[in-house]
Amino acid sequence: MNNREEQADQTGSYTSNQVPNPCPICLAPLVKESYLDACFHKFCYNCIVQWSRVVASKSSGQSASIKCPLCKTDNFSIIAGFDGTCFQRHYVDQDFGNRFTFSKAHKYRLQCYYSEPGILNDIFDVSRFWKSRKYRQSNMWLQSWLKRELQALMQEEDVDIVVHHIHGVIESFWTRIEHTRVVLKKPAEAYWQDNFRIAITEAAKPFLLARTDRFVNELELFLASGLNIEAYDAVYIQRLGWNTSGSITTNPVHQIVPFLHIFDVGSDQDE
Ligand SMILES: [Zn+2]
Ligand SMILES: [Zn+2]
Repeated sequence: MNNREEQADQTGSYTSNQVPNPCPICLAPLVKESYLDACFHKFCYNCIVQWSRVVASKSSGQSASIKCPLCKTDNFSIIAGFDGTCFQRHYVDQDFGNRFTFSKAHKYRLQCYYSEPGILNDIFDVSRFWKSRKYRQSNMWLQSWLKRELQALMQEEDVDIVVHHIHGVIESFWTRIEHTRVVLKKPAEAYWQDNFRIAITEAAKPFLLARTDRFVNELELFLASGLNIEAYDAVYIQRLGWNTSGSITTNPVHQIVPFLHIFDVGSDQDE
C-alpha cells in the first residue's frame, strides 16, 4: 500500500489506459513485480498476496493452490524479486498472516468492482437523482455501505477512519449545496454532480488509487437507488445473473463476464 501510494504520488493521476502494463488487480504500475509460477501472469507482490488471501478465505480448508485471477490456471507459488540470479518463492499454502477474513458480501462486492461498469445504469437513474434533488433525503444506510465497500476495496478490516472521512465529505457537500445561492453557468444538477465527483475523488484517491473512479460511480449508483443495502444487493445480484441458489440463471438480461475471477460463480455462492 505504501509503495503504491508513493508510486501514485510520483506519477500523479493515472488510469488503466495511461499505464502501459498495469497490474491487473490494482490497475496501477507494478510495484515489486511478481508472477505466478504456472501461468507467469504478473501482478504487484502485495496485490497477488492479498488476492490469495481473499480466495483462501472462502475455502474452509487450507488450499495449496491459487487460481490466477486472469486465466484461472492453478498456481502453487508466487515468484517475487527476480533479478536474474535469485528470487523469492512464496508457496500459497503458507500463512501470509491473514488479518481479515472476507465475508461472502465482501467478495460479491469485489466481483462487482471487477465486472464491466454501468450494468445498472438502466435501472437506477443517477441524473434523475441530481435533477430531483433526492440527496436532500438523508440515507441512513450510507455509512454501513461505505464501510463494506472500503473493506472490500482496501482489503482491510479497520477502515473506520476512511469511512468517517468520506462520509464527512459527502455530508458537508449536501450542506454546501443547500447554502449556495449563485447563478450557475450550466444546469445546477450538472454543476453539483461534477463537483460532487471531484470532492469524493479527492477524498478517496489516497486510499483507493486507481479504483477511485469506479468507487465514485458505485457510490452515485447506491445513492440514486434509494434502496437499503439488502434491496440494492438483490438488484445487483440479479443483474449479475446469479440466482439465490448459486447457479447462473438460464436467461439473465445481460450475461456479465468478470474480467478478474475471484471465484467460480455457481460453486461458491451457496456457502
Ligand atoms: Zn497491483
Ligand atoms: Zn494467469
